[in-house]
Amino acid sequence: MKEVFWRFAQVEQGRGIWTSFWSDVWIEGRCLADEFPRVAAAAELPNSRVADILNFVGDRIFWDLPLKVNLRGGAERERVNLMNLLDSLPSSSFPAGPERLRWNPSPASGFSVKSMFQQLAIERFPREANFPHKVIWQQIVPSKVCIFMWMVYHKKIATVDNLKRKGWCLANRCALCEADEETVDHIFCQCNFAVEIWNILRNFVDIGDIRANVTDIAETLRTWPVSTPENSKQWCTRIALHAYCWTVWLERNSRTFNDEKIPQRVIVYKIGRAIHSWLTAGKKVDVFDAGTWLITMKNRLFPNTVFFGPA
Ligand SMILES: [Zn+2]
Repeated sequence: MKEVFWRFAQVEQGRGIWTSFWSDVWIEGRCLADEFPRVAAAAELPNSRVADILNFVGDRIFWDLPLKVNLRGGAERERVNLMNLLDSLPSSSFPAGPERLRWNPSPASGFSVKSMFQQLAIERFPREANFPHKVIWQQIVPSKVCIFMWMVYHKKIATVDNLKRKGWCLANRCALCEADEETVDHIFCQCNFAVEIWNILRNFVDIGDIRANVTDIAETLRTWPVSTPENSKQWCTRIALHAYCWTVWLERNSRTFNDEKIPQRVIVYKIGRAIHSWLTAGKKVDVFDAGTWLITMKNRLFPNTVFFGPA
């Protein structure tokens, strides 16, 4: 555990009040007792702190290292080398005050068990490092859809490539475009059929290009706007990715398991209906009249069609 701790922490040098002169690592990753064993063995005070040996005169430093015996030969050469090393250290290496522990993950708030646990979790599961909590867990979206989006992010939904990895023997063909292999990224970001749905949806919702710079749905989620929406029009954008992925996935399932297909414009309208119902249930309807928006959407998607009854 000690090694783990020091991977994230370091000592900020002070005057050496807490640092053991011989056994701590305090000069360029060197332990003096290991490098100068004969001098260490002769030290009068083997448990000295750096501050016991370091002396300041004005802003200049000198080292006072009392020994039990006078050294000779190789041991004396070792002592001279050690003194040369110490004399090469500038006084600025020892700012006034005690050493401080710097906890690199959060230098301002310092060490906490929670912070250490988070660091270990990030090392173990690197995808969690930038996990877009605020984008995936949305209060106004049904929890089953949020869980689905969590699975999409982790590429855990039951696409054909995932099932094959688990040992299923299946032909891998995307049920939407019927051309390419089905993967999580393909279905939502790369599939020509799905991207066309997204592009039609862009006529009605303020969303960017799903294929702009990214072909990875996890990256799309990580870069989705996180600021809290100020009105229902912004809410509409905020939840559009959920509505799109969920509706496209339902269509994929209906094609895969029931062999039932509906055209893209109808899928776009279903996305609009999902957005409308989530906004309404979440009471996010204000200046932006979601009902009028949905009717406009319907009229533009299906011109020359007369509708009766509610949307
Ligand atoms: Zn496809």
